[in-house]
Formats: sequence, structure tokens, C-alpha cells
Amino acid sequence: NLNFHPAGRHFLGIPGPSPVPDRLLRAMSYPTIDHRGPEFGALGRQVLQGLAAVFRTQHPVVVYPSSGTGAWEAALVNTLSPGDQVLMYETGHFASLWHRMALRLGLQPEFLGLPGAQGWRHGVDAGRIADRLRADTGHAIKAVCVVHNETSTGVTSDIPAVRRAIDAAGHPALLMVDTISSLACVDYRHDEWGVDVTVSGSQKGLMLPPGISFNALSPKALAASKSARLPRSYWGWDEILESNKTGYWPYTPNTNLLYALSEALQMLQAEGLPNVFARHARLGEACRAAVRAWGLEIQCADPKLYSPVLTGVVMPEGVDADRVRDLIWRRFNLSLGTGLGKVKGRMFRIGHLGDCNDLSLLAAVGGCEMGLKLAGVRVRESGTAAAMEHLAATGSELRAG
Ligand code: PLP
Repeated sequence: NLNFHPAGRHFLGIPGPSPVPDRLLRAMSYPTIDHRGPEFGALGRQVLQGLAAVFRTQHPVVVYPSSGTGAWEAALVNTLSPGDQVLMYETGHFASLWHRMALRLGLQPEFLGLPGAQGWRHGVDAGRIADRLRADTGHAIKAVCVVHNETSTGVTSDIPAVRRAIDAAGHPALLMVDTISSLACVDYRHDEWGVDVTVSGSQKGLMLPPGISFNALSPKALAASKSARLPRSYWGWDEILESNKTGYWPYTPNTNLLYALSEALQMLQAEGLPNVFARHARLGEACRAAVRAWGLEIQCADPKLYSPVLTGVVMPEGVDADRVRDLIWRRFNLSLGTGLGKVKGRMFRIGHLGDCNDLSLLAAVGGCEMGLKLAGVRVRESGTAAAMEHLAATGSELRAG
């Protein structure tokens, strides 16, 4: 019954889309304006400039009215030619989907990783990328594609290490990075880290609803696009960059989402990106304190790579994670992320990204704890108490005076 509204707020605890701040929802309700009129150009120029600060780049950022998957496709079709070899790394479900896309586009992707679901608990091993590139003496590999924050597992890979691996091998391949769930949650530096195409999306750290996506470019990526031969029209960077010079798009852009983007960029700037990253790191640690107290396993097996964005909670043998999730949704109006692909039914995911604070994290953890007990999962001690302890012992006052 779609008319039934359970009292109180729905807690959107999935790792994206993340909760949309009311301020953004209000901005989206402004009347749609003429996308070729004078007001629009000012909005376009403002968001393009603001985005460069979030991607940490001096080079263009292309904005698409699509979900993140479209921006994955744009990155590949603008830079590569039919049959090109691409090196990808299996960190989880999203890396696997990008790999499948490369196959469907007629590329020859090679998928490095560990057998079975083992790799879904670890990050990118840059040493293996270096070894593979050293063996490619003819430079047949045209691009290395990795996912920064693997949203299906809660593992954040070390991107500067991948850059160093490519450089150590003296290899000219492009570096493409998916930051769909890390941008504006975790420190990321497109220019400084030597990334050629950064792919991202609106519905995670940027706090917008789904519907816009991004390619941040490097001069090397732009040069590659001049000779790349995969077919592209709608995704082509050339016409978009030409229109963007004056703040416009060659087609009808997603005007109302751009209002929200403008607002989100102001919010991020006001908080300060280092504070945004520290807030995510602290909420992530509080969430993991809860999982440890429950006596359950964290999906990420490498503490150096714990994600500040989400935590994967592994269920004890014989417990269906989706049954627990479903019970929590019905009883407590809290949505949690399902296990995807190879880990379906084995774990669920708690999102702590975007417009989240101490009390929203506690709501998620408290809902999980009650749901685990109701589902008959034995927990060692209160994770909610452990998370509260961490939050009370860290952090600072939000208001002056
Ligand atoms: N890559 C990552 C890391 C993601 O988390 C997602 C979506 O959750 C995608 C790609 C796909 O993006 P979309 O679902 O917006 O097309």
C-alpha cells in the first residue's frame, strides 16, 4: 500500500543513494529554467568550477545526466579503440560490472584478482599491476581501471600505489578510477595522483539523488580521445566541452539536479573537505566498533583499507543476511544494503556516507542490533554501546558558544 506512511523518518542506511539534505530537496523544487538562457550559463559555470575543487583538478570535469554506469561507459568509449587491452582488478561486484561492460564494448579486459570470493575482502594489489605491466613490453595494454571504494564490500584501495606501480613499470597506460562511492567521502586528488579519467556519481558523497555522473579528465586522456575509435556520440567529450566553455550543454541538461549540485558544493565548501573526510572516517570507526562488539566479522579483511563510506557485516554460517535485512526494514523502517554478487546472502552493508552524523549512525547500528537479536543471531555484547562510546570519546562540538 503506497499510501501507508509509517510514522517518523525512513532511515536510508544503504551505501548510496545516501540521505538527501532538505536544503538540496528544496533547491530541486525551484522552477526549471531555460537551459539556453542567460541565467543557466551562470549556474553551469558555477557548478563546473565547484566540481573541479572536489575532484582536486585544474582540468575539465564532464557532467552527464545519467547514473554512474553511464560515466563508466563514457570513460571507456572516449579513450579506447575496438579490441584494446585493458587491465582491471576484481575487488568486488562493481569492479566486475565495469569489467563486463568492457567486454560488451568489444575491449579485451584482463581481470586480475584472487580466486573465488577471496578478492572481495581485499583491495587492489598494486604489485601485481606493476608485474603485469612490466611483462607487457609491447605496451598493448591501453588502460588500467580500478575502483577506489568498492561499494559491494567496503574496501578502499590505495590509488597513489597504483599510480606508482604504473610509473615503476615505465608503462604509458591510462589510469581510470571509479570514485562513485568515494568522492566527497574519502580524500581523493585527481591531478596530484596522476589519474587520467575519474568516474563519479551524484548519489553518494555529493548527497544528491541519483541521476548525474562525472568524468574528470587529464590532458593525456583528452589527447587519447582524439584518436580513440570506439563509437560514441551522446557520451563524446568533444561537444560537451565545447558547450561547457560558456556554461551550457549540447543537449537538455538535468537542470533541477544541477540546482541541488550547486547547493551541495556550497555545503561541502562550508564544512571543508578535510572535515568531511574526518567525519566519514570517525563514523566508519564507530560502525566497526559496533560490529566488533557484536562479535561479527567485517567483510574487509585488511584494516588499512577499511572503508570510511560503508561497513560490510558478515553473517555467521547458516544465517541469511537478506532475511535479517528484511526483518529490520519491516520492524524499524531502516534500509540496509544487500549483499551483491558473490557475497549475496552472506553479508549486509551499513552505509555511513554523505549527510550523516553521530545520531544517524546510532540509529543504523541500533536498528541492526535489535534486528540481529530478533533474527536469533547471537551477539557478544552491545554494538550500539560500543559505537556510542567511540562517538562520545571522539569528535568535537558542532556549535560555537
Ligand atoms: N561503481 C560503484 C563503486 C558504485 O557504488 C556504483 C553504484 O552503486 C556504480 C559503479 C554504478 O553506478 P550507478 O548505479 O549509479 O549506475
